[in-house]
Amino acid sequence: MPTVNVRERGDVQYRRLGKSGLKVSSLSFGSWVTFGTQIAENSAANMIHTAIEAGVNFFDNAEVYSGGESERIMGAAFAELALPRHSFIVSSKYFWGIHDTPHTKFTLNRKYLLEAVDKSLERLSLDHLDLIFCHRPDPDTPIEETVWAMSDIVGSGKAHYWGTSEWSAGELIEAYRIAEKHHLRAPVMEQPQYNMFTREKVEKEFAPLYGNYGLGLTTWSPLASGLLSGKYISGVPKDSRAALAGYEWLKDGLTSKEANEKVKRLKVVADKVDSTLSQLAIAWCLNNPNVSTVILGASKVSQLKENLAASEVVDRLSPEIISEIEAIIG
Ligand code: NDP
Repeated sequence: MPTVNVRERGDVQYRRLGKSGLKVSSLSFGSWVTFGTQIAENSAANMIHTAIEAGVNFFDNAEVYSGGESERIMGAAFAELALPRHSFIVSSKYFWGIHDTPHTKFTLNRKYLLEAVDKSLERLSLDHLDLIFCHRPDPDTPIEETVWAMSDIVGSGKAHYWGTSEWSAGELIEAYRIAEKHHLRAPVMEQPQYNMFTREKVEKEFAPLYGNYGLGLTTWSPLASGLLSGKYISGVPKDSRAALAGYEWLKDGLTSKEANEKVKRLKVVADKVDSTLSQLAIAWCLNNPNVSTVILGASKVSQLKENLAASEVVDRLSPEIISEIEAIIG
């Protein structure tokens, strides 16, 4: 693999991560499902190379993805590409745990969080992460304990910013209150699902948090796991996510007749703006100014290239086109 020429080029633009000074590429790349399951070491470097060449600077990961293997593969790819550490932003997320003990599963306790971050760094072969997330809320650990732990990790230099994933607005406001009271580092970003079929949290529940707290968003599943690419309109392709062992739970949603009828109607709109369905769905997410970065997923370089070109489609989303989309998705 040739060394990547890390020039910031391509059409991907950079947005501030909420009120922080960090600039993330508006399109980023994540490794859930793919690294360690569909994509091995060599192809992972290829994917990251493709993303970097398009201007992507943020790569999303989590401890639980492939039981830690996804972090190891991503770290090996960074090393193979000899990427300067200042040129990329990398994340990990914690909650589910990969060790089967009462204090390391489904938790955000202090012991788990501090030890888990150390292990991520080992697997990634890095000395710090840029973003760390509480992957889900944990009703069994006081939010105060979690805020102290995440703030301490950032204070130790092992991560630069912390945030949450799929927390409620109420839980986030509680975290801000605790951070303010004790002069701790507060959450900078949230990672919610956001796509044409799942929009409530980003557009309604979190609405007061952008202005009041400067919350940034790194949003996931822009294609609703591939549904919005149109690939499930006529059944389940053999090489698709819905056909993977272990992901049967996604199948009903991906093959839903009602959802696929809407996708068929969206195809007419995509044709009008001269884009693919996937590009239209991703551009629609980018069109929301509260989204700092849309995390893309792809199992093939060709998909990633297609999806990265979604940046070019945003300008084609006129008010009329947005209304047509609204009429379909509701
Ligand atoms: P998407 O909804 O975009 O789904 C990506 C999948 O759709 C690909 O792996 C591929 O699957 C298929 N696909 C992508 N592009 C195309 C295309 N152009 N044509 C046809 N099929 C396509 O994103 P993900 O669900 O992967 O989520 C993106 C990232 O978000 C994750 O990698 C992860 O980093 C993050 N995430 C975070 C979560 C959280 O709880 N915080 C939860 C989930 C994701 P295939 O080819 O196998 O069908």
